[in-house]
Amino acid sequence: MNYNKKTVRDADVDGKKVLLRCDFNVPLSKETGEITSDKRIRAAIPTIQYLLNHHAAVIACSHLGKPKGERKESLSLKPVAKRLGELLRREVLFAADTIGPDAKAKAAALQPGQILLLENLRFDIREEKNGADFAQELASMADVYVSDAFGTVHRAHASTAGVASYLPAYAGLLVEKEISIMGRALEDPKRPFVAILGGAKVSDKIGVINNLLGKADTILIGGGMAYTFIKAQGYGIGTSLLEEDRLEYARDMLVKAKEKNVRLLLPVDTLVGDAFREDCARKTVDIREIPDGWMGMDIGPRSIERYCAQIAEAGTVVWNGPMGVFEFPPFAEGTKAVAKAMAECSAVTIVGGGDSAAAVEQFGYADRMTHISTGGGASLEFLEGKELPGVACLLDA
Ligand code: AMP
Repeated sequence: MNYNKKTVRDADVDGKKVLLRCDFNVPLSKETGEITSDKRIRAAIPTIQYLLNHHAAVIACSHLGKPKGERKESLSLKPVAKRLGELLRREVLFAADTIGPDAKAKAAALQPGQILLLENLRFDIREEKNGADFAQELASMADVYVSDAFGTVHRAHASTAGVASYLPAYAGLLVEKEISIMGRALEDPKRPFVAILGGAKVSDKIGVINNLLGKADTILIGGGMAYTFIKAQGYGIGTSLLEEDRLEYARDMLVKAKEKNVRLLLPVDTLVGDAFREDCARKTVDIREIPDGWMGMDIGPRSIERYCAQIAEAGTVVWNGPMGVFEFPPFAEGTKAVAKAMAECSAVTIVGGGDSAAAVEQFGYADRMTHISTGGGASLEFLEGKELPGVACLLDA
């Protein structure tokens, strides 16, 4: 996969209409419908500002939630247009449809330096089906396409990939940052390259482990997925998370890591609880001595020390998935320690989106990481080495 793509800086946008795919899939309050975090809107500002400063007329578009091809007022992007206007301190026009008469009329009248936001793309079923007619209609409103929705580049939808068949396609500043930092980490990392993988399930991370076994020097395993590996080595794991059908895979990986000379480390101790509850009884035990009826819910202090020592010496660290049930404070120490070690080390540090990004923010280390990906699913597929349709469709540099 080529991560070296033309960016908005290579495009001639002066006086042009630019179709800008953003990720405005913001969280909404269930009670009031209000936007509860505008982080994704803020993430799009640099590219929007760049385009407006370079005299482009910006036609922004995004999906929001899962309306599944039906118009749902609760998933209208109208509140996003309002918030975007406040952040940009300028008027953001809003079209009540995506490729309908209102969008077409407003796009046609749009002047350089103005911005228009189209209604939720997923109100039309053809968006997710990557319908060629829908993509063509979208493209017909603009001269240039810019992709800045990293959160959806792993999807081949009309607005993330289809439109690139009809318009010259460039990466926005956010997508550029995501693919250049993560692309470099995978293709030409500063070594030693340490990957930290956690989270609930081995099955979710199989693609990542497979890909990283050919690239990383060290892989540190934590979280619920660790216990399937421990069981695969023949030890009891009490009531810890287990994926029976992945035991064989775990065994294979341990062998493969040896063959490839990759240091694959598993926890040597664990903090167990007697129930999946924040206030359960807990104790630290050797990983080979998890008692019946107890559940491994965090990595233990000796594992923390071992993992942090690897991080301290790393040239590149990529992290995806918490080390334990960090939502329960008594079981957050492992995840917190990894975040702190990453914040304090001199390596290039990359945090995959989703739970690990949330943890890093919760513990206050966000601004000390080289990069926190804005896409959970997208960054996972990136680490799996999969081709991302929303990146592949952009012009090569
Ligand atoms: P993922 O979405 O796969 O990254 O998994 C994140 C979730 O894994 C979080 O909600 C954690 O609470 C959970 N998790 C991490 N470690 C464990 C564990 N030892 N047992 C159960 N769940 C865990």
